[in-house]
Amino acid sequence: MDVVERRAPRPAPRQTSPSLPPCPTCGQATVFLLEAQDPCAPDGPRYQVHWCPPCAQGYTRPAGDPAASYGDAFYLSPRAETLLAPLYRLFHGHRLGPLLRHAGSGPWLDWGAGNGAFAAYVERRTDRRCLFHEPSTAGRRLALARQLLEVDLERDGPFGAISLWHVLEHLERPRDLLDRLRSHLAPDGVLVVSVPNLASLQAVLFGSRWFHLDVPRHRRHFSPRGLRGLLVEAGFAVVEELPALLEYEGSGSLQSLLNLLQRRPNELYRGLKGDVAALRRSVGYLLPASIAAALLTAGGSFPGAGAALTMVARPRV
Ligand SMILES: [Zn+2]
Repeated sequence: MDVVERRAPRPAPRQTSPSLPPCPTCGQATVFLLEAQDPCAPDGPRYQVHWCPPCAQGYTRPAGDPAASYGDAFYLSPRAETLLAPLYRLFHGHRLGPLLRHAGSGPWLDWGAGNGAFAAYVERRTDRRCLFHEPSTAGRRLALARQLLEVDLERDGPFGAISLWHVLEHLERPRDLLDRLRSHLAPDGVLVVSVPNLASLQAVLFGSRWFHLDVPRHRRHFSPRGLRGLLVEAGFAVVEELPALLEYEGSGSLQSLLNLLQRRPNELYRGLKGDVAALRRSVGYLLPASIAAALLTAGGSFPGAGAALTMVARPRV
């Protein structure tokens, strides 16, 4: 265990139970970590997160529906997209940094590209072609409308960089995707992976109300050691770890604080997606919550304590 892992807050198991299913990755016993509701269905069923200490990874149980994806309501409304455009340029610029520092030769690929906003930003700001893959119908339609090229892995590549911005947590078997993409990287290519950090300051403070927990859509959960271990098992060497991802710190601390204050979860988030009534209900809380969120965001800047884990990895030869 290295210095970063020792300093980072760690998920604290609340009880053990012999009845919990074993870890599907290593077969060892898991422990109960927390129970939470789907913030999109607050009156719906509850989900548990089971934690495997040897793997430092968690599992949502019952497992989320693999067919479930983000629909039109997930993406910003056109008005909010215009209003928040300067902020998103800042966020995308922050994401671009590790790619510029480490990418090898060949085009780039954004896998799980959502509405294609980051891939389009890459093509505007660099001379790189950035192809995309997006499984949701709504996201794919928006990405194609930005004139982006959809990848055909058998035809395109090898790639100088493949980015997985908040993809692996949605997969029951993330290792399968890493194995598949590894063979499509150029010899000097890199993988950039980002997932929510279940050992973050925010996750420890807010528990089941943490904005980025997002069960059951998030089916897997990671600490820094867990993500590092997964990448190493899949044949990668980690070459850089980013301490925080701007959009995750701010949105996570602000919305999680509002979740403590408001009866319904994710009201501000829904407001920015076009639910005007939810936005109105959030306005009165915004000033005090924003001040507290700014302090929390500063706390999350310690290594390993940030709301998102972002790692750059190179295939081991
Ligand atoms: Zn395990």
